[in-house]
Amino acid sequence: MKTVLITGASRGIGRATSLKLSEEGQYNIVLNYNNSKKEALLLEEELLNRGVKALALKADVSDLAQVKDMFAEIKSKFGGVDILINNAGISHSAQFQDLSPEKWDEIFSINVGGVFNTIHCALEYMLSNKSGVILNFSSIWGSHGASCEVSYAATKGAIEAITKSLALELAPSNIRVNAIAPGTVNTDMMKTYSMDDIKLICKEIPMMRMAEPEEIAELVKFLISDKNSYMTGQIISPTGGMGV
Ligand code: NAP
Repeated sequence: MKTVLITGASRGIGRATSLKLSEEGQYNIVLNYNNSKKEALLLEEELLNRGVKALALKADVSDLAQVKDMFAEIKSKFGGVDILINNAGISHSAQFQDLSPEKWDEIFSINVGGVFNTIHCALEYMLSNKSGVILNFSSIWGSHGASCEVSYAATKGAIEAITKSLALELAPSNIRVNAIAPGTVNTDMMKTYSMDDIKLICKEIPMMRMAEPEEIAELVKFLISDKNSYMTGQIISPTGGMGV
């Protein structure tokens, strides 16, 4: 059994991914959450009822001490993390001149600092094991840029650079590092937009709709699997044709 850690598993894409991977019958699944305790514990119960060894653990990914505690608990239960899915993230919309330094620091500490913290903790086991998979979450805005989303786009651009650089560094250790950069996905993250805004966004998408989280989960399932044994350093973009 391989152990998968999914950060931000309580809602949205992380939740859909946990449910998708539970169908595989080959993973212990660690569900990281921060604020959504109730949702995470219900999900844990659902996976346990399916016969999966699931464990919900609270940790704010931006806090290294909390992340270290989470990895210590995983080590004692499962030995270590074989597959790390860095899904946790926040977004923020604002005109650049209205963006406060505090907000800038917050989004970087969660989106980029979180990735640094979890990878740091995961690598100890992966390097000694000479095996591992890391899958990060970027966004189409990470490479294309987005008006009024400078802070979010900048964090995702950083995640893409981390993904490519680490893939080169870790390939000799048999650790693959890739990222998914979706367009728009129908989760709470998009609920900051009005229905009218969503309609306008969908008009710009060749497939004329957002992705459902389950569609992204299907891609995650393949990317972390042994079937995807030769791909590393890649940014895969399920966007419904947006940005092509
Ligand atoms: P979501 O529905 O807003 O869920 C965000 C998840 O991240 C929640 O489970 C939340 O956990 C967790 N999280 C936030 N801050 C955290 C922290 N400090 N520590 C631990 N967990 C934290 O978002 P989503 O749409 O599923 O997005 C998942 C990933 O896909 C993100 O990286 C996002 O940037 C990326 N993405 C999303 C879209 C989209 O259109 N939705 C597009 C491109 C990329 P709690 O509730 O427990 O705090």
